[in-house]
Amino acid sequence: MGKGTVNDYEGEEDFWDDEENWDSDFADPGGNSALRAATPSNPRNLPCPSCGQANRLTPKDRDLGYQCDSCADKAERGLAWDD
Ligand SMILES: [Zn+2]
Repeated sequence: MGKGTVNDYEGEEDFWDDEENWDSDFADPGGNSALRAATPSNPRNLPCPSCGQANRLTPKDRDLGYQCDSCADKAERGLAWDD
């Protein structure tokens, strides 16, 4: 990844332990993922429609027509699957 970006924030993950806020959050806040966060009522238990990998999408993701991060990333870069 980037140069000179040694991670000083080893404790930062604890910040995301607050499951109460999951419902409306993106799975990857501040990142480039559009997928919804998995919650007990919205489990990530569905396969990606593009690559078929299991447990990639939540029901909300599927309703929104999303694909997994890997496929979305490829699509954004213009490397979508040829089919
Ligand atoms: Zn995929």
